[in-house]
Amino acid sequence: MEYRIGNGFDVHRLSEGLTLTLGGVRIPHRQGCVAHSDGDVLIHALCDALLGALSLGDIGLHFPDTSDEFKGIDSRILLRRTVAMIAERGWSVVNADCTLMLQKPKVAPYVQQMRETLSSDMQITQDRVSVKATTTEHLGFTGREEGVAASATVLLSKD
Ligand code: MG
Repeated sequence: MEYRIGNGFDVHRLSEGLTLTLGGVRIPHRQGCVAHSDGDVLIHALCDALLGALSLGDIGLHFPDTSDEFKGIDSRILLRRTVAMIAERGWSVVNADCTLMLQKPKVAPYVQQMRETLSSDMQITQDRVSVKATTTEHLGFTGREEGVAASATVLLSKD
């Protein structure tokens, strides 16, 4: 068995009146992410971790934000396409561990739904997908509610 590890990190600016989608789940909030896609910062970090594990570049390379094809796109489509790229090369996802960094809103009520959504898109069981969230104690751009950040780590295996 061969293993590969990958990490990903992403940030999006928050703006009033936009929709907030994190981990594939729509979360009611007065602010949402400014982005070319739906701005799902958690899925973007996860895609970068998956691509990084196989040295396949990053999300911007495969899904450029200059392309009309990806304008307003549901990031779950990007995640499924990324997982397909990995599967084509004979690799499977062992597990993923993700951390959201945001001051507001509290995302704890949505974490289970995020795990269901992400595990379904990655075709793995829910116990292999962890989603955690932290505030940054009112410090920095996340603490000032100017943006949301996310990091992800994945492990891949190949028989
Ligand atoms: Mg992004």
